[in-house]
Amino acid sequence: MGDISTFDKKKRKRKAGCAICGKPMVTEFRPFCSDRCKTIDLGRWLGGDYRLQSNEVPDEAELLDLARAMEERKER
Ligand SMILES: [Zn+2]
Repeated sequence: MGDISTFDKKKRKRKAGCAICGKPMVTEFRPFCSDRCKTIDLGRWLGGDYRLQSNEVPDEAELLDLARAMEERKER
């Protein structure tokens, strides 16, 4: 962690990859590689609202719950 020159090289060479895990992007889930990473990103996005207590990525079930809660809010 913290090696800026390495990071720079990677950045330059980088093809478009998943914004979460860096795997090759899948068109269907752009800009992510899978539905899972898309959900993780959504969870991070909602993080400001829900204040997750740890730095770890919450589990999928938890995130799907959040996503559902958001949709229900929208419908009102
Ligand atoms: Zn991914």
